[in-house]
Amino acid sequence: MKGLDVSVVQPDVIRDVVDQIWARMQDTAKDAVAGDHAQSDFRLVQPRSIGWCKVEVDLRVRRPSLRGRGFMNRKIVEDHMDGLAPHPSRLCCPSCGSHLERLAASWKCTSCKLQFSTPFGILCLAEHPSDDWGEFGEQRTRELLEDCERVSWQHGLERALCTFSDPLALLEYAVSPGRAGWWPLLNLQRSWRVLEIGSGWGAITFSLAPMVASVVACDLNLERLRFIKARALQDGVSNVQLLCWGGTSRLPFGDQEFDLVILNGVLEEAPLLGAGSPLANQRVLLREAARILAPEGQLLLAGHNRWSWRSVKSSRGYRRSFWGYKRLLRSAGFASRQAIIPLPNFQSFSAIVDPARKQMAEHFLAERGFSRCETLQLKVKSSLAPLLASSFGWIANRGRHQTSFLELLGSHAARMLSREVDTPIEYKKYRVTLRELITLELRVGTESQSVMVKIPLSAYSNLRTTLEYQSLSSLQGLLVSSAGWPEIPKPLTQGTFNKVPYFVQEALPGFSGARFLRHGPRAAAWKQLATDFIARLHLATQTPVNLDEATWNKAVMPHLDAGLRSTEQCTGVKAAHIRDYLLQELVGHSWPFVFSHGDYTPGNLLFDRKGLRLLGVIDWDRALLHSLPLIDLLHVLLSGRAQVEQARLSDLYGKALLEGLDKEDRQLVDSYFHRMGFSVSFSQLRAFLLIAWLFRVSMWVSPRESPWYGKLVWLQSNVEPSELWLKQLFGQLVHGHQNR
Ligand SMILES: [Zn+2]
Repeated sequence: MKGLDVSVVQPDVIRDVVDQIWARMQDTAKDAVAGDHAQSDFRLVQPRSIGWCKVEVDLRVRRPSLRGRGFMNRKIVEDHMDGLAPHPSRLCCPSCGSHLERLAASWKCTSCKLQFSTPFGILCLAEHPSDDWGEFGEQRTRELLEDCERVSWQHGLERALCTFSDPLALLEYAVSPGRAGWWPLLNLQRSWRVLEIGSGWGAITFSLAPMVASVVACDLNLERLRFIKARALQDGVSNVQLLCWGGTSRLPFGDQEFDLVILNGVLEEAPLLGAGSPLANQRVLLREAARILAPEGQLLLAGHNRWSWRSVKSSRGYRRSFWGYKRLLRSAGFASRQAIIPLPNFQSFSAIVDPARKQMAEHFLAERGFSRCETLQLKVKSSLAPLLASSFGWIANRGRHQTSFLELLGSHAARMLSREVDTPIEYKKYRVTLRELITLELRVGTESQSVMVKIPLSAYSNLRTTLEYQSLSSLQGLLVSSAGWPEIPKPLTQGTFNKVPYFVQEALPGFSGARFLRHGPRAAAWKQLATDFIARLHLATQTPVNLDEATWNKAVMPHLDAGLRSTEQCTGVKAAHIRDYLLQELVGHSWPFVFSHGDYTPGNLLFDRKGLRLLGVIDWDRALLHSLPLIDLLHVLLSGRAQVEQARLSDLYGKALLEGLDKEDRQLVDSYFHRMGFSVSFSQLRAFLLIAWLFRVSMWVSPRESPWYGKLVWLQSNVEPSELWLKQLFGQLVHGHQNR
């Protein structure tokens, strides 16, 4: 856990606590601790529990390792934090441009003597902070902030989002690290000082903070800054500074104070903030951004395309075209400018196309269902991409073009793979998946090996990607000849580059199974192929296990536990009941334990263009080395059905549990049994179905997912009255038992 920067707290606030610790230490080690504690270092540690801050004191005395601890009320600390930690940048008066100095509870201009207040400990340079309550409206925003500050920011957000019809979109906007998924295209350095103008709820701020020296989050909306502050305090993020400010004429910073300035969707609003013409205001804002950037600094600018066919009907407002942005940036003093196209748009994207790399646009279009396009058509379309894209990102440099982190990582990974110095690299795809992971497809070396580089954007996705790499490695060891398994990606190398973890594995060709589900004849084909593959894998990895209670507790229970507890909470059906029922059905028999994919869904299967050949199975991050058979198969059949019928997965599990499997699925399950050489009774099949569902639930609520994100997804798609079937099932079982 990181320490809070103690310098942001006024010293007299913690002096009492430090004095107490000091006295206690003197009591316990009288001889050793002689000296003045004015020389000591203080550190505030923010624990996860609510209400208290830990103060750690390092004393530079005769024994340098002496350390004391005390506690103080977090509220007191928060009330005395001014939010803006001291940082290298000099703040300037927005009115006259002279330096600002800090007083006890406010800031003052050294020249014109204007004073600026610090409401909620946030320096406010704005004459009128925005009273736009935005997404949540006034009442709910107040409650949200209260919850955030009183309990936790996750809790506050979750409660506020519960009432939204599409909470995920809003959640993604507010906190997804994927929203900063463009950062590898910059020349990001650990020493960078970053300014984000229009930081909103801080998704980008928090994504970048761990990778740079400092981030100044600047917004006209004081409420959102309060949210950022609560989140920073609770997560122990000590290098984020807050500033309430908005305007165009003069950015309140000295020259060359930053290495990166982010204007994400802000340029379109700039015309409303200044006095001049819209275009003039935009130009002034960009010139100011150039002024406060270091000579090697970079600007990330994102906004809508004026001429996108999507924006024709809606107001074009102050949007610019590809050439419009380019001209603006040049005239503002940015010597080199590179466009990127985030898709579907800059606010929420799952892919980034670099129009300068024509192959990238072609790969993207070819995959997007322009598959029947002739090569020539593809080429034309990909060169038109810059003109028709719905929005752009721009990476502009004050000086010459800079090599991006991605290019450096690409060459590094290529060297690791081919052991040659100048390995040619072709960039194929750049994706931001699951809101937390960047995947990059490269073609490396003279033999054109296709590889997938994964860069996790959060601790959770780092854990999942690590697990996937481990699973693929053990799978490779488990299968006698991995050459016979072209469908399974081979792990190639992993490491860290500039302290950023990365993973490289073989990239498999093919199209996601999701696109074949709705095509009648092909639908049957994909199911058969999915069944064949999983039967083959399970057959190759099986070991017979006589399932007793000890094995159950060791091999099965840990993967059900979270789901059972959560189910009990939501439905009232006792976890112990479900467990006993499952034990009764399955324990005492011999089952072939297998290597299980763990998330075997149509979306994770890759097929050829016609959907007639299975080319790959991806996303092994939830794989289990030693697990019950059949679960993977049941899951792929039911989740495929859920997509075709637009039904809730949970309902389909419930239906199958109460009424048995559909005839077509039953045949596939039978063919699986035939190949594996075992079968189950109807009541045992029910137990397997229930386990498959509980695996799924456990997966969502387990700490492998971002805990709050996973839970929300799960709540949205699985709970509510749906688990009636669970109550019904257990009603039946109890009833049947009584009748016996
Ligand atoms: Zn002034």
